[in-house]
Amino acid sequence: MKRKLLMIYTGGTIGMKQDEKTLALVPVDISQIEKEVPELKKLGHQIDTYSFNPVIDSSDVKPEFWVELCKLLKSNYAKYDGFVILHGTDTMSYTASALSFMLEDLAKPVILTGSQLPVGMLRTDGKENIISSIEIAAAVRPDGHAMVPEVCIYFESQLYRGNRTTKYNAENFRAFRSANHPVLADVGIHIKYKQSLIRYPERWDKPLRIKSLIDTNVAVLKIFPGMTLQAMEAVLSTKGCRAVVLETFGSGNAPTDKKFLSMIKKWIDRGLVIVNVTQCQAGSVDMNAYATGMALKNIGVVSGYDLTTEAALSKLFVLLGQYSDNKQVAKKMETNLRGELTIN
Ligand code: ASP
Repeated sequence: MKRKLLMIYTGGTIGMKQDEKTLALVPVDISQIEKEVPELKKLGHQIDTYSFNPVIDSSDVKPEFWVELCKLLKSNYAKYDGFVILHGTDTMSYTASALSFMLEDLAKPVILTGSQLPVGMLRTDGKENIISSIEIAAAVRPDGHAMVPEVCIYFESQLYRGNRTTKYNAENFRAFRSANHPVLADVGIHIKYKQSLIRYPERWDKPLRIKSLIDTNVAVLKIFPGMTLQAMEAVLSTKGCRAVVLETFGSGNAPTDKKFLSMIKKWIDRGLVIVNVTQCQAGSVDMNAYATGMALKNIGVVSGYDLTTEAALSKLFVLLGQYSDNKQVAKKMETNLRGELTIN
C-alpha cells in the first residue's frame, strides 16, 4: 500500500557527506536524499522531506527544539501516515523520550534514526537505517492501521521503544540498547513485529495534542561511595530546582548514614520530588528489597522503577510543565504513561 511519509532532517552524522574537494563533512541536501539513497524510490511510497535550518549537532538539542519538532508533527499530522526523524545519535534517546511524553493520543509512527557513519560514506550504516525506518513508518496491520503508532528509535536492525533506550556505544554500529524492554521489531530477511509489545491507541481518530510546556528545573544526583554531604547538598539546593533524579546503587540503595537520610528528607519536606533510578545498566529499583532502599521509601523518595535516566528526566520536564503541584508530579512519576516503566 502506497503511504505518505514525512522525513524530517534535524542534523547529526546521518545527513552528512564528504565534500569532494575539501573532504570535510557537510550536510546533504535532504530534498535530494534519493541521490544518496536511490533505493528509497523502489519502496514506492511518497516521501516528502523537511529540513531544520540550520541543522544541529544533537549535542545542541534543547527543549525549544523538541517543542518545534512537536509543532511540526502536529501541523503535518493529518497529511501524513508516518514520520521519520533523522537525528544525531548523541542525544537521540533524550529526544525520543521527550517526544513520547509530549505527544498525546499519538496514532501514527514517529521513527527516529541516525547513523554512526555519514550516509554519504561507503561503509555507512545510515542507508539501511533510513530504508528500514521508512518501511516501518509505512507498515500497516491487516486492518489498515499503523503497525507501530509509537515514538521509536530504529537502529542497526532493531526497533526500540524510544523512551526505553540509551546510547551505550560511541563506535559500534549497534549504538543503542533497550535493556529493560524487548525490541518492538527485529529486522532481518523479514521485519518481525512483536505486536503484543506494541502500544495501540484505544481510538485511532483522536487529534494529536502536544504538551509544549516544559520545565527543566531538574537535577541529577549520582551518588558514589565517599561522596560528601556538601556535594550532595549542592545539587539538592540548586536554585529553582523542583525535582531530582537520584541515581542509586543496585536495586535502589543508598547509604544508611542518618545525616544523608535526614538531608534527603529535609528537601522532600520542602517539596522537592526525588526519583530513585538505578545506576545499573539494566534492572529495576525495588525499594522493598533492602533496608537501605526501604529507608528512602519511608522518607518519601519516589520509585523510578526501571526508568532510564533519559526517560526519568524528560518525563519530569513534561510533568513539571503540566502540574504546579509537585505531589501530582510525584504520583505520575510512579505511573506508566507511555510504556516507559514496568511496575511488577
Ligand atoms: N555528534 C553527532 C550528533 O549527535 C553524532 C551522531 O550523529 O551520531 O549529532
